[in-house]
Amino acid sequence: MTSFFGPCHADLMTFTIVSVHAHPDDEALLTGGTLARAAAAGHRVVLVTATDGAAGLTSPDMRQRGDLGRQRLVELENAAAALGCQRVIALGYPDGALSGIDPVIATQRLAGILEEESADVVTIYDPAGGYGHPDHVQVHHLGKAAARIAVTPVVLEATVDRQLIIAAIRAVRLVPGAVKVRPSDFANAYTARCDITHRVDVRDFVPQKRQALAAHHSQTVGGSGGRTLSLLLGLPGFLASRALGHEWFVEHGRTAAKPALDDIFASLR
Ligand SMILES: [Zn+2]
Repeated sequence: MTSFFGPCHADLMTFTIVSVHAHPDDEALLTGGTLARAAAAGHRVVLVTATDGAAGLTSPDMRQRGDLGRQRLVELENAAAALGCQRVIALGYPDGALSGIDPVIATQRLAGILEEESADVVTIYDPAGGYGHPDHVQVHHLGKAAARIAVTPVVLEATVDRQLIIAAIRAVRLVPGAVKVRPSDFANAYTARCDITHRVDVRDFVPQKRQALAAHHSQTVGGSGGRTLSLLLGLPGFLASRALGHEWFVEHGRTAAKPALDDIFASLR
């Protein structure tokens, strides 16, 4: 952390945040607004993406061109630039196989980055890995272990308010022809509202977040049914602000209180 005028002027302190993600595009979906807001306030933002994203769905012609992993790395760089990240580190693990890698080596690599950056804050995922993707669950475990080794002061689990997810699923179920997902499938996904410590207002950074989402062009096409990215990008302005305007975190060692905190650096000030 850096202070230009000493500890009395806490508002002028700048911090380093390292945001750890599983796949290219997760950074924009889960933390894009928070990272853009931190960067705009003068904090150093470092993005770490564990896998190459080469197993992601995409259109047949994009798949045919081959090397989706390299394409997604370019998209990741563009998304990171839109958010104001100062450094992007792609760990290059195979997409979908993060739970099969040597966790000791991966933890050491991550801890090395946290130490090198003197990270004040690290973001990982909630223990459920959000919706349960094994790569996301593994990011939770690796990130938690690395933060312990590097003694990173603030560990934030990026998550979503489960109540909002279930409300959205109920609403989508009313749309004829929409993919039917049961609300009960998400009974243990992400995080219960009462356990969320931070609800970060990123409404002023929705344009940057949308730009970052749009940078992941390969992920807006392909697969059956609507892709989350293209659905979000297709929302009109006022709905985009509602859907993308807040991000949620659980800080390790902090008890959730009402209202939830808006400042991810609150524990450092
Ligand atoms: Zn992911």
